[in-house]
Amino acid sequence: MQIVIKGVASVYEPENIARMFFPGARLEKALGRGDAVLARAGRRLAAGVRLNGVCTLRFAPAPTGEKERECALAALVYELLRAVTGIRPPWGKLTGVRPVRIIHDQRAAGNTEAGIEALFVDHYDCTREKFELARGIADLQRPILARAKPLDYSLYIGIPFCPSRCSYCSFVSLSTERETKLMQPYVDALCREVEAMRKEAAACGLALKTIYIGGGTPTALAAAQLRQLMGTVRECFDLSGLEEYTVEAGRPDCTDAEKLAVLKEYGATRISINPQTFSDAVLARIGRRHTAADILRCYREARAAGHQNINMDLIAGLPGDTVEGFAQSLAAAIALSPENITVHTLTLKRASNLVIQSEEGGYADVAAMLEKCRALAGAGYRPYYLYRQKNTLQNLENTGWCKPGYEGCYNIYIMEEVHSILSAGAGGSTKLCQPGGSRIQRIFNYKYPAEYIAGFDTILKRKEGVSRFYAGYLDPQTTG
Ligand code: SF4
Repeated sequence: MQIVIKGVASVYEPENIARMFFPGARLEKALGRGDAVLARAGRRLAAGVRLNGVCTLRFAPAPTGEKERECALAALVYELLRAVTGIRPPWGKLTGVRPVRIIHDQRAAGNTEAGIEALFVDHYDCTREKFELARGIADLQRPILARAKPLDYSLYIGIPFCPSRCSYCSFVSLSTERETKLMQPYVDALCREVEAMRKEAAACGLALKTIYIGGGTPTALAAAQLRQLMGTVRECFDLSGLEEYTVEAGRPDCTDAEKLAVLKEYGATRISINPQTFSDAVLARIGRRHTAADILRCYREARAAGHQNINMDLIAGLPGDTVEGFAQSLAAAIALSPENITVHTLTLKRASNLVIQSEEGGYADVAAMLEKCRALAGAGYRPYYLYRQKNTLQNLENTGWCKPGYEGCYNIYIMEEVHSILSAGAGGSTKLCQPGGSRIQRIFNYKYPAEYIAGFDTILKRKEGVSRFYAGYLDPQTTG
């Protein structure tokens, strides 16, 4: 399937809409032979689809503004493809990452509950079930967001190393076997960046609320390197007022009792052990070099080390998995009774081996898999945060579920953009949020560890942008 879009400055919205119906379709400059979606903005808008040689066209008046034209063209493509394919995407024509944010924003703007419902169900064509999911999450997040203060911030530290590469992964993640030599210089640089972050945050009077060490797989580091990094964090920051300190211990093939004890000793209050599936056959197929038994061992060791807040990630739609297999994984996770279970829907990312090698997925019905998540509600979990990504199977969502009182605050803060996130490490993107306002500025680190180490002085220089950003807002003449 090809997608051809003409006459708009940005093809983002119509392209995304077309891919909701035809995942994996290629954006082309000109129309070739075969199946295609064509969208064109001229004096009027035109959308067409050619399927098995049969063409169907629709037209609409063209609005004037550039963004309005793009959105109107996307809406026309949506109406056409919905009618021709008979598919109703569960989130309708909503293409954004943060549907819950729309509810918060609408409430803040004074829209009524009925008005918000009409916006989702009638205007966006979202199913009532998805709207209720988003609204329930918005309700649950309300008291957590209400306590956010303008000068709060979170710290993210990235460890871009893993024991092997999962086939669906598009993150920067280097093999610990091949890149062992890079790991120590990387940790040394990271510790220096954490110290620089402390200075910047202190100069701006920022208050640290949550820490998240993610990746990659942080526990891919040696126990001594974890001590070095988390020891630096402990020296730099007062951890006593933290709401949450998460460390991903995602892979049991590099996480042992000693490392789990280090995480506990140095102040982690929440860890993540990520099975993705409890099927050994699916684990092997996605390139994870561990079994379900290893996950159980890791979980037992984490509890023995004193970890009382554990998240487990599962993925719906992994190659080779089935609806029944997913339900079994869900049941296995629930049986362990972790405080959080996060259910992702498989996303076909361009940089992943899954897409690069064009693996024939044979993906099962992910909508039916997500239906099985009702078992989570039955086991006392409730959805507390949600986000969507491009190119996700059946255009579905990722949802974090938790037991009451175990909401992952960092996940909520980053998704709802309520305060700044200072990011350390390769690939880090520091997101600065204007205190009490809506302006957002980003500072990027180099993407790959070798570049990060080699260009470290530039990284430190860029970080000075944090205090420059806040300087205007902290001026007593402007803040009163
Ligand atoms: S563990 Fe996560 S970061 Fe590492 S390769 Fe797998 S998906 Fe990528």
